[in-house]
Order: sequence, then structure tokens, then C-alpha cells
Amino acid sequence: MIPVSCGEIGDAVRGELVGVDPTAVVDGAVVIDSRDAGPGGLFVALPGERADGHDFVGSATAAGVTVSFTTRPVEGSPCIVVDDTQQALGNLARLVMSKLPMLTVIGLTGSTGKTSTKDLIGQLIRPYGETVSPEGSFNNEIGHPLTALRATASTQYLVAEMGARHRGDITYLSGITPPRIGLVLNVGTSHIGEFGSQDNIAVAKGELIEAVTTGGTAVLNADDHRVAGMRSRTKEKVLTFGEAPEADVRAADVKLDAEGRPAFTLHIGEFSGAVQLRLIGEHHVSNALAAAAVALAAGLTPEQIADGLNAATRVSAARMELTERADGVTIINDAFNANPDSTRAALKSLVAIGRSRGARTWAVLGEMLELGDTSAEEHDAIGRLAVRLDVNRLLVVGEGAKPIHLGASLEGSWGNESAFVATIPEALELLRSELRAGDVVLVKSSKAAKLRSLADALLEAD
Ligand code: ATP
Ligand code: MG
Repeated sequence: MIPVSCGEIGDAVRGELVGVDPTAVVDGAVVIDSRDAGPGGLFVALPGERADGHDFVGSATAAGVTVSFTTRPVEGSPCIVVDDTQQALGNLARLVMSKLPMLTVIGLTGSTGKTSTKDLIGQLIRPYGETVSPEGSFNNEIGHPLTALRATASTQYLVAEMGARHRGDITYLSGITPPRIGLVLNVGTSHIGEFGSQDNIAVAKGELIEAVTTGGTAVLNADDHRVAGMRSRTKEKVLTFGEAPEADVRAADVKLDAEGRPAFTLHIGEFSGAVQLRLIGEHHVSNALAAAAVALAAGLTPEQIADGLNAATRVSAARMELTERADGVTIINDAFNANPDSTRAALKSLVAIGRSRGARTWAVLGEMLELGDTSAEEHDAIGRLAVRLDVNRLLVVGEGAKPIHLGASLEGSWGNESAFVATIPEALELLRSELRAGDVVLVKSSKAAKLRSLADALLEAD
């Protein structure tokens, strides 16, 4: 973190200094895990489900942190005592942001593709200025401020992913890092159980557009009417992306190669250039256009953007990660997370890859969580889509995902093309006995359904 005195931090977080010299400086890392603590740092004691961060304040002190955020004094450790340590973390990040006026904050949200697009933006702009855009999905009230706190005086761009489970979440996060460029990717159905409707999700995501700072740019998806409609929520400049003819940053002639990698012609104003992405799945066209529009808003030229997209590779793991095993079976690990939109996109990519290779395709699908009342219906629809797309074998894993199997069985006149098993070990056993050289296997579920461990086991079997 940039150096700030404990006195100033105490004021910013409205905390009480206990056993702390107000002139002592924090200039090391801000951490929430005492095992990451180091000299000059700041430890935030968060209440956890299993452990209470307050139990580790002593070890953080021993590791050399200058001070800890706590809700009560801890004997032998310098503390800034506050009512809510998570809020204090947010306020600290806000203070640091206010000291970095030259920093360009790029905030992005959307139902699907945030991390993929954040990674693309990072790769596009990093050659033109020092960029903070950490690997992974740090998009909540804890990960977001921790990401922001990595910015220093020499950082030019901060790429901040923001997630929303409730109305007001994005307002909170974008209040910490007011975005000069605000991007909304899409409005799907993730967390619809919380929000009630897609229109409510749009209201929540659009909070980012309202937060775009004076002189900034809102970047909106022209292909998603709920996102395009957010134009009315800002007075600042708007740039749009998509395949729609009116989009400012546009793709035409989209094609997939044998590995499922999309190629297209990128149009920006008068410019047009060929782009061949190295990422797998047609859905990355939309993410690439979004990243291109952000890069344009950040001042890159269309040529630089096209070159950057052609060079970009996947960064964060378990998103359409394609591995060919020694026995000739190809595993597509997309088990980082799943919702109906990303599952549809993954199935389409699987089929495109299978078709171009003349290979047998398998979709191994687990539950998509947090769908509320629409859960059974959405799972059923995925099963039916698998049949219509002509996926060759479907393996549905876990009770919550069962309607996928039922939907598929009702949709088609399948024999044993669709199978249901209750557990991951059963799925592994079935796959081990039936997979053969040339097969292409997609593995996908929500995080909590843990099919990532199945994908890992399939790759270890190599
Ligand atoms: P989270 O809310 O879990 O942080 P995210 O919005 O960051 O998710 P990613 O991690 O980028 O999203 O991608 C999640 C899944 O969605 C992956 O399986 C990815 O392949 C797929 N995906 C990415 N972009 C899109 C898109 N534009 N449309 C449909 N699916 C997508
Ligand atoms: Mg993410």
C-alpha cells in the first residue's frame, strides 16, 4: 500500500487507536489472512464462518504488521478499533484512492464474463501503462477493496471487477473506486433468486453507470437491450459494443475454428481489422468487443486494440480450459462457475469443436445454483438444448442438476445418451469406463457443485 500514517487511517475509518503510535506508517500489504502478513502491513480481522480473524491478530503482529483493524482491543497488538472491520477496509481503500488522482479506474460488472473480460482488458492496456488487474475474481466487498489497495503512485490503470447480489452493492463498490470508465457486459439470470427479476438485476448493474465520474465514459452492450437502456442513467459519454449495426465497436463475420476459437472482423469507426482470438467459445466475441471499447475509451488506437486482441490469452483458470490427454481424450474444463447463459455458451462451443473434429462430444453438467424459483425450469431447458444441439452424451451429476437429465430425456428419443448420477465418484467411474480416444468432454457446474474437482481428477487420470 502507498505509505499512510496510522493517525490518518484512524480518522478515515473513524476508529480508535489502541496501543498505536499515530505517526507509525503502513506501507506494506493489507491482508485478511495472517499467513500473508508482513512488515509494515495492515491486518484486517474479519469475522469468518469457521474462524474469527481476531484470533490471528497476534500472529499478524508477530509477522511485523504496523497495525490491525479489529472490533476490540487485542492485548499486545497495535489496533485500530472500529465497529465493522469490513467497512473499515472499504474506507481505507477509499482514502488510498483519493490520494491517487492520476489513476484511471476501469470498473466492470455484468452477469457473465466479468473475470474473462477483466483479464482481456488487463492484457490490452498493460503495455501502455502500469496496470493493477489481479488474476481471479475479486469482486465483492472484501476482494474489491483489497484489489484497489494494490494501486501505487506509479499505477496508471486499475481494472476492478464488481459483483452484485443485492441492490446497492455496486454503488458501495464503485463509491470506493469511482470509475472513469464503467462497463456493463450483460444482464442475465445469475442471482435471480435474490433479485426477483432480470429487470431488477438491470437496476442493480446500472448503478455502475450512474457512478461514472465527470468526463468519463460508460461502455454498454448494444446487443443486450437492458444494458443498452442504461444510457439514460448517465450524462457522460457512451460507447457501445456488439454485433448490432449501430454499435461503436463492432464484430462482423464471426467464425469458430476447430478448437472453438472465434475469428471476426473488428470495426471501430473507419477502421476494420482481422481478429483471431486464442480464447475458446463464441461468447468471448462479446467480451473481446467490450474490452476493445474500454481500451478505446482509455486512449488506445484501433490498431493497438486489434493487435492486443490477437495476442491475448486466457489468464484466470477453469474457464473453457482445453487440455488434450495423452490417451487422446480432450477435456474442456469450464467448471469455475455456471449459470444458464454461460452453460448455453459452453454447450455451443463444445458442439462446434466436436463438429469440426468429427469427435464424439460429452457434456458433464452439475447444478447451476442461486436460480431461485426458476431453477427446475432453467435446468430442464439446458437438458433440452443439449438434445437440440446434438451433444452425443450427457452426464448429469448431483440431485440439484437432475432436471437437466429429465429435460433431455423428454426432449429427444434418446436411449442411454443421457445419464444421471448422484455423486462425483460415480461420474468418474462412468467416465473412466466409457471415454475413448477422440472424445471431447465439457465439465461445467456452479462453483459450489464442485465439478472442478471432477475436471481435476479427469486431468490427473492422464
Ligand atoms: P463470477 O460472477 O463467478 O465472478 P464472471 O462474471 O467473472 O463470474 P467469468 O469467470 O469470466 O464470469 O466466466 C464464467 C463462465 O461464463 C465461464 O464458464 C465462461 O466461459 C463463461 N462466459 C464468459 N463470458 C461469457 C459471455 N459473455 N456469455 C456467456 N458465457 C460466458
Ligand atoms: Mg468473476
